[in-house]
Amino acid sequence: MDVRSPRVGTDRAWLVYLAVGFTLVGAYYLIPTAGLGRVVRIVVYCLVSASASVAVFVGIRRHRPRPRLPWLLLGLSQLVYSTADASFYIAHYLFRFTAFPSVADPFYLGHYPFVVGGLVLFIRRRSPGRDLPGVLDAAVLAVVAGMLSWLYLIGPQARQDAPLLIKVTSMGYPMLDLALLAVSLRLILGPGRRPASFFLLSGNLVAFLAADTNYVMQQLGGTYHAGNVLDAIWLSGNLALGAAALHPTMAGLGERGQVRDKSGGPVRILALCAAALVAPATLFLQDASGTLRDISVIAAACALLFVLTIARLAVLVSDQRRLAITDGLTGLHTRRFFEAQLPLEVARARRGDTSLAVFIIDVDHFKSINDRYGHPAGDQVLIEVAARLRAAARAGDVLARYGGEEFALLVPGAHYEELARIAERLRHQVASSPITVEGDTWISVTVSVGTASYPQHGDGPQALVATADRALYAAKAAGRDRVVVGEPPQPPAELVDAVTDTADLALIDYLHRLADEVDAMLSTVEHSRAISRWAGTLAVELGLDPATVRRVELAGRLHDIGKIVVPKSVLTKTTPLTEDEWRLLRQHSEHGFRLTRVVPGLAGVAHVIRQHHERYDGAGYPDGLSGSEISVEARVLAVCDAWASMRSDRPGQPALSEEEACARLRLRRGTYFDPDAVDAFLDLKRRGLVGDLRRIRPEEPATLP
Ligand code: GH3
Ligand code: MG
Ligand code: MG
Repeated sequence: MDVRSPRVGTDRAWLVYLAVGFTLVGAYYLIPTAGLGRVVRIVVYCLVSASASVAVFVGIRRHRPRPRLPWLLLGLSQLVYSTADASFYIAHYLFRFTAFPSVADPFYLGHYPFVVGGLVLFIRRRSPGRDLPGVLDAAVLAVVAGMLSWLYLIGPQARQDAPLLIKVTSMGYPMLDLALLAVSLRLILGPGRRPASFFLLSGNLVAFLAADTNYVMQQLGGTYHAGNVLDAIWLSGNLALGAAALHPTMAGLGERGQVRDKSGGPVRILALCAAALVAPATLFLQDASGTLRDISVIAAACALLFVLTIARLAVLVSDQRRLAITDGLTGLHTRRFFEAQLPLEVARARRGDTSLAVFIIDVDHFKSINDRYGHPAGDQVLIEVAARLRAAARAGDVLARYGGEEFALLVPGAHYEELARIAERLRHQVASSPITVEGDTWISVTVSVGTASYPQHGDGPQALVATADRALYAAKAAGRDRVVVGEPPQPPAELVDAVTDTADLALIDYLHRLADEVDAMLSTVEHSRAISRWAGTLAVELGLDPATVRRVELAGRLHDIGKIVVPKSVLTKTTPLTEDEWRLLRQHSEHGFRLTRVVPGLAGVAHVIRQHHERYDGAGYPDGLSGSEISVEARVLAVCDAWASMRSDRPGQPALSEEEACARLRLRRGTYFDPDAVDAFLDLKRRGLVGDLRRIRPEEPATLP
């Protein structure tokens, strides 16, 4: 926002002031120093000096700067300064009073607190946050200046064989100049707006410090005489201050500027490097010329500069790091940061035996937003979506831009049961109201969310992200603008030997979803997921080897997928089936076999699926196998399948109680089922190791991709 006053284009008072002022300065040198000319000189000098303070107060009235205090302090400092000038010149020219210190010195020294105070206030307004690079850079230059000042200005004064008052006064100037230099550097190098009045004020400071330094040097060398060229520099500095205050841009000098990071620019780094080399260079020159002096001061400066340089380096590195982990468009963390945090958080959750949730959020149909409203509008949408997600996240969560229009959220401590609720909160936060772009266009934006949690969905970062990603894919496939909680723990890679190809994993994943689809069609409670769990437990109970246990689990999960080929009317029929319908239904184990067989690594599982309706007495289908002709996996599976079917309401077949189901298993022990498998299952049941059937969660995809 431009805050320049409306008069900026026409207000030329500052120019007029400068023109008149410099004319007077020229005239000053033309006036003879003898006779009446002396008086005229004093008047001209003091007029110019005092005019600057008047100009500051006029500027404050005209331009109403906000804040006013820094300008008031600068005006006061100039008032005190011009009083010093008046008393100096009157004493010097009129009364020939040349003693040092003079009546002017308390005024000269007294103006410093005002100007330093004013500058500090400006600095604080212009860089409210921390600006460590600016502080360090100013410190480097101040240390160099301080060292030089001690070597060539303060030190010689201190060594002078003079009365204490003279020593203290003459040392006071370079020391206060040093303080002024430090704040001036800080102002000039720091952030904030840099309008014309900023440069004029900087000119004032530079002129003043240059003239003062020269003055002390000339004093030491005994070459100073009032009225020499230094007066022109001082007066120019005064005029610059007056012009700065008269310039309309003075009102915005206390404002924060645009964020411009020039703190690592090559020019600045080179300048700092050169400055830091001044100390060792001085030592070198002194040594070469045989005038080694104040070695401890130079050594201290070298040490300080070294520490400051290292600190500057550390700040640069940390700034770079901050930039590297911050997404430029949205201000969220980058994917890199997210991927670095995830393993740490998983490890922390593992140590603390707590949980952790991962959410992947993708904007729906974002490409069409870009196509319709343009890329810049798309960017605005991304910024707003990021802001809404940030609002929905809590402190301590890690929210990152994970890809173009994809975001990732890491919530330490979130449980499996909370996944759907948190994900819904995110989805709702984004969709709650349309997003405005370019002021007048409203765009309705939705997101799809996939989520997974540790430890339920895997115990490593990759497993979590992969599960959440698959869930996101399922959400997209199911129509978008929805939440899908990742599949519970059946990492196919662990269940199946020798399946490492991701294409195969995707196929297995697809079969899992087919299984869920079938289950959801037939009941509101889970089926294949429970059977997989129970069959695995039962297989372990029977002492089967790990590979067989894994095969049983996966076959349990996929045993009914062949039903996807059976007409839904047959599957859900509540009246007795006709012979043809029975034939169709019985084909599901064969269909399941065929669907599974094509996946590399699942041939064994496919055979178990084919046999899961064989009966121990040989009366089952499709092949009429009996006893040990039926694989042990299929015999285990048959018991668990029967239990799950008996315990749930299915079309035309209400659920049995636990007692009834146990009695039915016992009854069919040795006819339908392997007696050992029944005994072991009932034993597990008695020990409470066969859990209840869970309801199918509504957020699971209800349709096939
Ligand atoms: P879906 O619902 O399946 O996620 O559809 P989609 O269109 O959102 O998905 P797709 O991945 O096909 O398109 C994402 C688009 O996002 C493609 C890319 O041009 C755009 N995109 C990526 N990064 C940015 C960005 O920084 N700004 C803008 N405006 N667009 C971006
Ligand atoms: Mg996408
Ligand atoms: Mg998308």
